[in-house]
Amino acid sequence: MTIAENLRRVRARMAQAALRAQRSPDEITLVAVSKTKPLALIAETAAAGQIDFGENRLEELWEKVEAATEAGLDTVRWHAIGTIQSRKTKLAMGPFALIHAVDRLKIAQRLSRQADETGRELDVLLEVNVSGEESKHGFSPTSLLAALPALLALPALRYCGLMTMAPFVADAEEARPYFRALHCLLDELRRTYPSAQYPQATWQHLSMGMTNDFEVAIEEGATIVRVGTAIFGHREHN
Ligand SMILES: *Cc1c(COP(=O)(O)O)cnc(C)c1O
Repeated sequence: MTIAENLRRVRARMAQAALRAQRSPDEITLVAVSKTKPLALIAETAAAGQIDFGENRLEELWEKVEAATEAGLDTVRWHAIGTIQSRKTKLAMGPFALIHAVDRLKIAQRLSRQADETGRELDVLLEVNVSGEESKHGFSPTSLLAALPALLALPALRYCGLMTMAPFVADAEEARPYFRALHCLLDELRRTYPSAQYPQATWQHLSMGMTNDFEVAIEEGATIVRVGTAIFGHREHN
């Protein structure tokens, strides 16, 4: 199977899931997760029409941004989808469309300070640990609500929505309650901190759903899905 065919299949499945939920397929962005994959494969995927690519490690993201620039591949929008360690927040100051996984107030504060110093504004999502699993990063829903006044006071972050990693389950249906909970939380934030009063909070995105569960995530309102394996095949690590 070629990458172009994999991409077509994923897009067709996304469109069917959208239609089942009476949504327009145009509302949903596919981020192709290219971690561990070489630039040549990214270039092939871009040639097949894919625009958005995601990497979970900032060092690898930078390597690929630089290699892509050198290769003249300038159509790509890069997404930082992984956890950011506090000593690496400076690496998030780059040509990235969206930072998906701001998981603590401390990280948000550092990102905002460093962005402010370089005259930037960063588009970010807040990562929520909906399942409460200890292995997962992210704000608990309660801690997010408590942190919001402080988050909204930061000068250089724009809050574009929420992101989650659902628990790894055998049957994607089991992930549905977590996706639904994230959507409910976003609706609550839209009511409590409406964009009309908080222009730094646009709350338009729900980044949820991966290879195993992206269709269920779309049925539950995902506006961004992050898909690696179904496009590029299995990874050896990471
Ligand atoms: C690797 C990764 C994905 C994609 O996972 P697949 O199961 O290969 O689709 C999505 N989101 C994040 C944050 C990841 O690290």
